[in-house]
Amino acid sequence: MSLLEVDAIDAHYGELRALHGLDLRVEEGETLAVVGANGAGKSTLLKAVAGVLRPTAGQVRFDGRDVSAVPDHKRVRLGISLVPEGRRIFRSLSVEENLLVGGHPGRPGPWDLAAVYDAFPLLADRRARTGGYLSGGEQQATAIGRALMANPRLLLLDEVSLGLAPVVVQDIYRALPRITARGTTVLVVEQDLGQALEVADRVQCLLEGRTVLEAPVSQVDREQVAAAYFGLE
Ligand code: ATP
Repeated sequence: MSLLEVDAIDAHYGELRALHGLDLRVEEGETLAVVGANGAGKSTLLKAVAGVLRPTAGQVRFDGRDVSAVPDHKRVRLGISLVPEGRRIFRSLSVEENLLVGGHPGRPGPWDLAAVYDAFPLLADRRARTGGYLSGGEQQATAIGRALMANPRLLLLDEVSLGLAPVVVQDIYRALPRITARGTTVLVVEQDLGQALEVADRVQCLLEGRTVLEAPVSQVDREQVAAAYFGLE
């Protein structure tokens, strides 16, 4: 049994069909990268897993349980945390206060303030700084740290590199092995193929709401994934 099993989900925005019978598996302990161009359906898929959006068909199972009808706040309690696109942190709270807001008393586990600062040393130096005064990268790290404070078994990351300078993106991605080392499974959505292939164990490529490639990263080269990404195969 996989930690996450998405079976044949459809998603619609009015008349527009954003996902077409999509299947996806995430094994406990792995990092899966879902890649695809703008509008391929990546965010929609993450929202369906987090329970922010209700699929119009299909099933989402977490740890063997059908969670399709479970609302998003209850999925957090079950161990699914989403870091949405756009790093929404509390601008009037300090880094540390932002992190503490994410803590979930119902879910004990490996993540606490010390563990987050260990994963993101740049945050340790900024712990007292107010959210509104943080750089984009620091805000992104804070948003991820806050999600980790809920001790998720599955962390969903939506386009963490969007709008950040390459060197900052590297800082963020450098934390991923430290996150998985504590037993947290990661599903990351990325437009940046290079980053995705560097950090992931497996890659799944979407095109117009369908899977066009799914493989262990060790068994594909960048050209193959790029061809699928642009629909050239
Ligand atoms: P991006 O990188 O732009 O976030 P994506 O791969 O995450 O792309 P989605 O955001 O999941 O793609 O969008 C899939 C499709 O659904 C696109 O055609 C998009 O225009 C459409 N869509 C997404 N959100 C909405 C919405 N709130 N209302 C209407 N259509 C939407």
